[in-house]
Amino acid sequence: MGKVVVSSMTEEQQSTLHCERVRCVHTSMRPDQFLVVAVAKYLRQEKFKALFDKEESSRTAGRFVKMLDEWFAGASKDASAPLNVGFEEKVYDEMVVLADVEFTSYCAHHLAPFSGTYTFAYIPKDTIVGLSKIPRMVEILAARPQVQERLSQAIVQTFQQTVKPGGCGVIMDAVHTCMCTRGVRKRGNTRTTALAGVFKKDPATRAEFLAAVGSLR
Ligand SMILES: [Zn+2]
Repeated sequence: MGKVVVSSMTEEQQSTLHCERVRCVHTSMRPDQFLVVAVAKYLRQEKFKALFDKEESSRTAGRFVKMLDEWFAGASKDASAPLNVGFEEKVYDEMVVLADVEFTSYCAHHLAPFSGTYTFAYIPKDTIVGLSKIPRMVEILAARPQVQERLSQAIVQTFQQTVKPGGCGVIMDAVHTCMCTRGVRKRGNTRTTALAGVFKKDPATRAEFLAAVGSLR
């Protein structure tokens, strides 16, 4: 009976029905489960035959998806949370500089890692923060797919809104694997800067920050 119905359908209707069935299979799986199946299928192509047997392709696909989940763990976390603990009294009103801290983030265009170092500075107003809180904030913000420009902006915005200092700034240098392992295949440093508060408004503060970064290199 079903067969009769299908054969009386136009080609377009049949193709819609097919798409609905495929969508049904896909949506019944969690996105991570679906991705494991898709990656395993990708690895089972003829060209990889000598490299993966059926079991290995499934295990590798499982690890790959777990790795993505670990990379992007910051997407579901509140980056301001580390800054909300342990505020101390203001005891200092000169620029505080945290230099050359390592970070790794992931490009939103290719989901490929980019990593390097950043230098962050701020001028306290009412409170100072424990210096280890800043890398904790950056760690959460970096564990998301994004572009480096947006990461730099997110760092100063999160800090400025949460700690409310006189101002803050960050300079980030990173090597992007999507640039050095594919496409143009050239290794180079990408530098982004983001400034907020007096770092943005006051040329002398901005100059002091940039000089501090220069002298630390
Ligand atoms: Zn990229």
